[in-house]
Amino acid sequence: MESGGILILSGPSGSGKSTLCKYLQENIPNIYFSISTTTRSPREGEKNGKHYYFVSEEEFLKDIEESRFLEWAEVHGNYYGTSLAPIQEALNLEKLIVFDVDVQGHRSIKNYYPEAYSVFVTTKNQQVLRDRLNFRQTDSDETIRLRLMHAYNEMKHIEEFDYLIVNDEIKAAKEAILHIAKSLPYKQNVKNSACLCKKWLENLP
Ligand code: ADP
Ligand code: 5GP
Repeated sequence: MESGGILILSGPSGSGKSTLCKYLQENIPNIYFSISTTTRSPREGEKNGKHYYFVSEEEFLKDIEESRFLEWAEVHGNYYGTSLAPIQEALNLEKLIVFDVDVQGHRSIKNYYPEAYSVFVTTKNQQVLRDRLNFRQTDSDETIRLRLMHAYNEMKHIEEFDYLIVNDEIKAAKEAILHIAKSLPYKQNVKNSACLCKKWLENLP
């Protein structure tokens, strides 16, 4: 009866979503991390097929036309999309499926899979976010400015989420995400409980 569940992480760029997703991948055996397709250029160290599928705008538009995406959105001037086929395969294998998407992606995935749970990840203030984006050294000043501006709009959506992690001490944030992920099968059990009740009642003398 237990399935891994669906967990969506969203929040400002630089808040720590990738760090937390990586931690989940290292600590939960039956996990599938949804690798998005994007038209953004790879950052140093990012690998095609591991962090993202990096494609041209033409290829991305073709995927839209062929209805390959469960959802897609324009974020910070680039296209990002979630392919449907690998998600359905992971669902069949009862894996925990983890998404790192923006707030638009969160809404679309929740509409498609109402049983999904979601976590908003942020920092305790804007300055910490700015410091982390600078420290990461992966984006130009202009990109960082755009991402900080976008962060303000994303913060307005916090109440649409099931959980909020203020990623201050990384150890505490990692513990929090692991607790949430591990609790999902039990939350899922409640949603699937009609079948249990039916069988349970059948055993009455
Ligand atoms: P996102 O995926 O949300 O854009 P990242 O996971 O890439 O964010 O984190 C942005 C930067 O901040 C990275 O350099 C990461 O190592 C660092 N970082 C993440 N969480 C913390 C934390 N709690 N304390 C300090 N640095 C952190
Ligand atoms: P980054 O360029 O920093 O990797 O990601 C930028 C933003 O795009 C982040 O908020 C990330 O969650 C979001 N994102 C990544 N993949 C997808 C996706 O497939 N769909 C949507 N809607 N957003 C995505």
